[in-house]
Amino acid sequence: MKFVIIGGDAAGMSAASRAKRNIPELEVIVLEKSADVSYSACGMPYNIADPNREMDDLVVRQAGVFREKQGIDLKTGHRVDAIDRRAKTVTGEDDEGRGFRIHYDKLLIATGASAIKPDLPGFDLPGVVTLKNLEEGRIIKKLIRSGDVKKAVIVGMGYIALEMCEALKARGIDVHMVKPRPELLPWMAPDLALLVREELESQLVGIHAGHKIERIEADGDTLKVVCPDLVLDGQMVLVATGVRPESALAAGAGIELGPAGAIAVDRTLKTGDEHIYAAGDCADAFHVVTGKKTWVPLALRANRAGWAAADNVTGKKTELEGIAGSAVFKVFDLEVARTGLSLAEAEKFGFDPAEAVIRAPSRAHAHPGGTTIAVQMVGDRKSGRLLGAQLVGKEGAVHRVKAPAVALHAGMTVEAFSQCDLAYAPPFSPTWDPMLTTANQLLKKL
Ligand SMILES: Cc1cc2nc3c(=O)[nH]c(=O)nc-3n(C[C@H](O)[C@H](O)[C@H](O)COP(=O)(O)OP(=O)(O)OC[C@H]3O[C@@H](n4cnc5c(N)ncnc54)[C@H](O)[C@@H]3O)c2cc1C
Repeated sequence: MKFVIIGGDAAGMSAASRAKRNIPELEVIVLEKSADVSYSACGMPYNIADPNREMDDLVVRQAGVFREKQGIDLKTGHRVDAIDRRAKTVTGEDDEGRGFRIHYDKLLIATGASAIKPDLPGFDLPGVVTLKNLEEGRIIKKLIRSGDVKKAVIVGMGYIALEMCEALKARGIDVHMVKPRPELLPWMAPDLALLVREELESQLVGIHAGHKIERIEADGDTLKVVCPDLVLDGQMVLVATGVRPESALAAGAGIELGPAGAIAVDRTLKTGDEHIYAAGDCADAFHVVTGKKTWVPLALRANRAGWAAADNVTGKKTELEGIAGSAVFKVFDLEVARTGLSLAEAEKFGFDPAEAVIRAPSRAHAHPGGTTIAVQMVGDRKSGRLLGAQLVGKEGAVHRVKAPAVALHAGMTVEAFSQCDLAYAPPFSPTWDPMLTTANQLLKKL
């Protein structure tokens, strides 16, 4: 059997490795359009922050290891342009302009997501960059190394924008962030978002939320981001306005798409075609709280879905329950974490939600060095179910979110969660962990 995989990063290489482990004699071909495979995109902002590290340090496993040690036929510089489902072939072009046509018995689409660049004047100027893959990371690092970037403008305020804001400040660059919507992080409880804003302001980051961007102009070595009521300038503009699923190949082959245009897959990662699977950022997933399809492009799901697709292709039936939308990131000294639904999302999905928001110490009150941790928790008045949690704090926020994440997978009520035996010692939490205190407060509102 010939198993062909399009895309050679998290989902694609996880699937290729797993398939070879399951059936060593299986023919596995990976077609990757770029020169890079199996790297940690998530590490790029931290790598950019550090002038002493090379971008290539982020490569997890070199292409040669996949080829020579694992027997995977990994073809870099091979871009797939079309899937012919009747002939069971993929066609494309390599980076020397030679066409190829490859037959598959089973196909996995693992093409990830691509950065969105607004279709506005000037977004294609030199110095206007996005950060999605290793090559773009190298370009940004080179720009910074040139020493010419004294000021940067970041368009967008999502987690990659915020991580890059910290990275650029660490390189001594003055940073201004701008976006059209007035809220900094629209999904976040306002009390928690305020803490993130205060952290950014304390680091002297310019935050310009609520400004429609009209165009980017070049003025000598300077780039100007022009809004009707504001002009921001710098030598580099990072566009971090989100990503969209790379699902055009699937759509072109008549495969059904789901939320946000991601490839629709069942719990075994199979698309509407019984010979074609999709995994990672290009594919959708079930949400464990709503039970409905969703699209959340994050790394653990990509790796796990790659494994599961490979298991199913090699005859080991595997079903994935879904995702809880758990995500964490760092903004300077703050840890930010979320799992499950926000209040607005819970309303949208037909729950009758209530929320509790508290601020609590991260350590026992008499223990030195503690900081404040802010927690928001959402529960359903009708069923008593826990629906989601968000945390912001200087310590312990990220690891605390893992308890409610597990509770969401288990479908626990807020009451059951409030009875969990969470560990305590003075350096790590108050006797009543902030998660339990929030659950106790939320119970009063349900
Ligand atoms: C800066 C940054 C920070 C991040 N931080 C985090 C984090 O902290 N935590 C987290 O969970 N996630 C994070 N992510 C997201 C995470 O990197 C992705 O979820 C993950 O890489 C998805 O893996 P994937 O294999 O589905 O897609 P990708 O990594 O996008 O890989 C898809 C591959 O397919 C190739 N490809 C696409 N089209 C074709 C074609 N037609 N022919 C051949 N090859 C093709 C691409 O070149 C690419 O190599 C971050 C992402 C970025 C960019």
